[in-house]
Amino acid sequence: TISMAVIDKLGQIAVGTSTNGATFKIPGRVGDGPIAGSAAYADSKVGACGATGDGDIMMRFLPCYQVVESMRLGMEPKLAAKDAISRIARRFPDFVGAVFAINRDGMHAGACHGWTFQYSVRSSDMEDVKIFTVQP
Ligand code: ASP
Repeated sequence: TISMAVIDKLGQIAVGTSTNGATFKIPGRVGDGPIAGSAAYADSKVGACGATGDGDIMMRFLPCYQVVESMRLGMEPKLAAKDAISRIARRFPDFVGAVFAINRDGMHAGACHGWTFQYSVRSSDMEDVKIFTVQP
């Protein structure tokens, strides 16, 4: 899965996700990619979140909606991301997945379970993309 969040000059936030779903693909499977709030969610007033991992487990928790709503209540992206992953891990200790979170101020973080996760960031004041590695 590739999920991406963009904040434009006006502060409008958009998010999108694409998935090949190959690892978990069975005929007729919908997956988490097209489920709003599962693999991606954004609200320009708050921030955005993108997810990757065991979609069939993650989609039951709408982790990206959870992250954005937690940030709306004042949580920093790191805590919001960790909280959303923990909620899943408590019920499904073997699940593999990750989320990134970014708030409208550009503060970002990731959280993961079962694997090491990497996400990249590029803002207008950066010369190049920076890669962040998150340990479970
Ligand atoms: N979430 C995707 C899916 O379950 C897989 C992935 O993130 O790689 O289809």
